[in-house]
Amino acid sequence: MRIDFLTLFPDMCEAVMSESIIGRARRKGAIEVYCHQIRDFAYDKHNRVDDCPFGGGMGMLLMAEPIALCIDDLIEKLGEKPHLVYLSPQGKTLTQQRVKELAQLPNLALLCGHYEGIDERIIDRYVDEEISIGDYVLTGGELPALVLADSVCRMIDGVLSSEECFQEESHFNSLLEYPQYTRPAVWRGAKVPDELMTGHHENVRKWRRQQSILRTLHKRPEMLEKADLTKEDRAFLEKLLSETENAGTESENEG
Ligand code: SAM
Repeated sequence: MRIDFLTLFPDMCEAVMSESIIGRARRKGAIEVYCHQIRDFAYDKHNRVDDCPFGGGMGMLLMAEPIALCIDDLIEKLGEKPHLVYLSPQGKTLTQQRVKELAQLPNLALLCGHYEGIDERIIDRYVDEEISIGDYVLTGGELPALVLADSVCRMIDGVLSSEECFQEESHFNSLLEYPQYTRPAVWRGAKVPDELMTGHHENVRKWRRQQSILRTLHKRPEMLEKADLTKEDRAFLEKLLSETENAGTESENEG
């Protein structure tokens, strides 16, 4: 997969995408990443890429033409139009499901706004999808684009050591991940649960699955509606729910 960032701050994107797991994946060729400077496509002698909004108001907007030239240049390089995402607080909120779908694309281009945003005509003419990373506003699209790119890259073959690394993780199957522990087995008096110390694979699998269901129920109960639960999982969940209900009735009676 190839990911292209279109931004006024390519060094910021390059720096993050060169580190750790993603940097290693790039170096071994599992993913390709390019960061393009929109300012290189400015057409006046001052290299201006922003201007005041028509109708007045605070702040500056990125002008349409430098962005359009930057996108056209990318289309020419690729020989086709990439799927173009504009990172925007007005977009649909990013989910693991959308991340999985985006990871299937051969080319993904990420357009980062700045200041007050971008001229609306770029969205109308070029943008395939607007994606937000949450209901809050950042100064620029670089951090959201990096969040999206990182989450997508992890899904690509050869980036993580195996698919198992993400298949049991939070959100992959609408469940949260089970608790995990590493050495030492006793830390400041706190012991690792016995079930993980037996070396019995089936018992470990069962314990982890039940813990996943238990913490999803406690932390994000709404996720369970979409979770792909087996008959065994459902029986466990029903037991948990009836225990919670009984505990509630007992405390009501005591009160
Ligand atoms: N004036 C815009 C509005 O109210 O919708 C917000 C512009 S914001 C200050 C500047 C840029 O940051 C946006 O163009 C967008 O690229 C990016 N951005 C800010 N918050 C974001 C979010 N939650 N998700 C994705 N991108 C965001």
